[in-house]
Amino acid sequence: MYQANKERYDKMIYNRVGNSGLKLSALGLGLWDNFGSVDPLENQKAIIHQAFDLGITYFDLANNYGPVPGSAEKNFGNILAHDMHAYRDELVISSKAGYEMWDGPYGNWGSKKSIIASADQSLARLQLDYVDIFYSHRPDPDTPVEETALALDQLVRDGKALYIGISNYSGMQTQAIIDIFNDLKTPFIIHQPRYNMFNRQIEQDLLPVLRKTGKAAAVFSPLSQGLLTDKYLNGIPKSSRAAKSTSPFLHENQVDATIKTVQSLNEVAKNRHQTLAEMALAWDLRHPEVASVIIGASRPEQLVDNIKALNHLNFSKAELNQIDNILSQ
Ligand code: NDP
Repeated sequence: MYQANKERYDKMIYNRVGNSGLKLSALGLGLWDNFGSVDPLENQKAIIHQAFDLGITYFDLANNYGPVPGSAEKNFGNILAHDMHAYRDELVISSKAGYEMWDGPYGNWGSKKSIIASADQSLARLQLDYVDIFYSHRPDPDTPVEETALALDQLVRDGKALYIGISNYSGMQTQAIIDIFNDLKTPFIIHQPRYNMFNRQIEQDLLPVLRKTGKAAAVFSPLSQGLLTDKYLNGIPKSSRAAKSTSPFLHENQVDATIKTVQSLNEVAKNRHQTLAEMALAWDLRHPEVASVIIGASRPEQLVDNIKALNHLNFSKAELNQIDNILSQ
């Protein structure tokens, strides 16, 4: 039976989520990839146990994570029920609705019909009474934002979620839904955007809104799916995401297109006595609005490496300028 590491809280940093009372581990584990029905269960278990043993308390899921859609929640739910249920109150577990999940007009997007049903399905797969954070996965152009906000608010009132988040909303869309949440007194606390050295849009668009309103971000794909590590420096390993047929979002041509930049960034990281992955995570965490970076992992050792980012979070002005220059070339 799994016994959690007694020293798990010694090294992790826990950041307050905006003005709320919730704290998240500075590194969260995302279950988008590597936790589906196509992935070995023993490895999934090993990654989840390793994460918690390192002090990672935030586990990020969504209705559609797999493949097949739903299987990541099912697998996580089974692992939790089997040997981690004693730690439920030490975990922040999130789910989301908004991407295609089931056939017909109600299995997608942000209507009340879709969100309530999807949340119920997620809770059943996770074998939980409530999730800690429930996110609207993306804005829905065909549903009034009030309806999406009211559906999320109802999840809290029905005891199915403690806090509410949104994901992939622009700065303007975020401000609009915050105004509604404020009227409803919904515990909306967090935004989940993509943020890494290759995707910096939120610096201009979203972070100022979060700063002004006292909200936080938990950013996804901080390693750009593995591009911002040293794994592709000498070609594409067979076991990597770029080589995997079940991973539709990272392709070999993205490795080729970024390799020169990655080589230069790797030199900056070396001068900081860090790996590139460590530097990329520290770089995301330099914003006070970023409470957590949600990383993916295909094996437990990657988490052991990545947590070392916390040993060196500060950047000098010169290092930041150097990184900006490399990225603008
Ligand atoms: P990352 O950018 O952290 O990429 C993770 C991948 O990088 C790993 O699977 C692994 O790939 C590689 N990697 C990690 N650490 C190392 C290391 N130390 N050395 C070498 N390679 C490493 O994040 P993801 O893109 O996986 O996204 C993380 C989470 O964010 C998701 O699981 C999900 O929870 C969330 N997310 C949310 C979205 C949204 O719309 N809200 C969209 C996308 C993600 P490999 O398989 O090659 O080993």
